[in-house]
Order: sequence, then C-alpha cells, then structure tokens
Amino acid sequence: MAISAILHEETQTGAPMLGDHLAMDLLNTEARDNDQAIEFWNSDAEVLQWLARYGIAPAAENSSLAPTELLTQAKTLRTLARKLITEFKEEKTPDINELNQYLHAFDTAPHLARDAEGKLTLSRVSHTDSMGSLLGPVAEAVAQLLVEGNFDLVKQCEHPDCVLWFYDRTKAHKRRWCSMALCGNRHKAAQFRKRSSSSDSV
Ligand SMILES: [Zn+2]
Repeated sequence: MAISAILHEETQTGAPMLGDHLAMDLLNTEARDNDQAIEFWNSDAEVLQWLARYGIAPAAENSSLAPTELLTQAKTLRTLARKLITEFKEEKTPDINELNQYLHAFDTAPHLARDAEGKLTLSRVSHTDSMGSLLGPVAEAVAQLLVEGNFDLVKQCEHPDCVLWFYDRTKAHKRRWCSMALCGNRHKAAQFRKRSSSSDSV
C-alpha cells in the first residue's frame, strides 16, 4: 500500500496528526511517498480544515471564510518553522525575528468564563484579525518548542523514504518511527526480506 493511502486511512482528512506537537504536525503537512512530494495544503479550505482539527477556528462572524492569502501565509510560516526547527536541531542560532511577525499578530486577552459544571476558567482569547488568530496559535507552538523543547526529542522518522517529524514523548525516548503501522512495519518487512534473501544464498 502506498504511504499516501495509509496516511489517508489513518487521518481521513489530510495531513497526519502523529507529531505529538503542533509544530511537528505543521512540518508534516508536507510528506513524501517514495520520491514524490505530498502537499496537504493546496487551498485555503485545506488550511482551514487542518487548523480546525487542532481547535483553531476563524472568528465566529465569518466562520467559514478564510482571510485572503491564508494559504500563502500558512506556507510561509511552515517554511520558516522548518528552517528554525532544523537549525535549532543542528545547534545553530538562526534569526528568530521573522517568527515575531506572526507572534505579534496574535493579540490575545485573558478571558474569564464558567465551564459546564459552573467552575471558573481563565483562558486567553484572540482579539486579532482572522489571519493573526488563525496562524498565531501555530506560530506560538513553534516558539514554545524553540524555548522549551528538548531538541534531542525533536526527531525525524528514521525510514529513509520518510520525512515526517515527531516530538518523542515516549518514556524511554526510543521512538524511531513516525508510526509503527507505517514506517515501523515497512522497516520490519525490509529486514525480513534481507534476512530471508541472505539465508537463501547460504
Ligand atoms: Zn515514517
């Protein structure tokens, strides 16, 4: 089965959600199937659908409308995030200022509310235009990773044909694959083939 088919089966609506961190899943909106690049963001609607899966939605009054240039802006943020995360992983010190443009556009204020049981909750709600409120939380996740993340746990799937990223939250920190079902099994099958072909030749 092709990776794209498996990815699709696992997630149904687009990009895989296996990064265990929003910043990782952002990078995983681009994948690879053998030599072919897979782009999960081809329209504003696809970006909106992806954001909605993480509970990020445009302001209520225009809830189904994407701001103009959402696709372009989202892809620019993704390219920037990929550069920053890769360079942090390589222990370089990249320019972080461009990320601030997205962070500053994410203007939030404290918001007091009661939950279903009447308990008070304090959260932050967006006060910005829709572009800021849509891409702001994603930019914040990237910034949070840069500040607090352990870059030994920021990993790329070990399968040579795979480009997916994840944050290794397993206890032993030995996660090697984007998913066992996907690349773990591909690897096992390849090892098995290798073993059986070498035993044939003996
Ligand atoms: Zn993989």
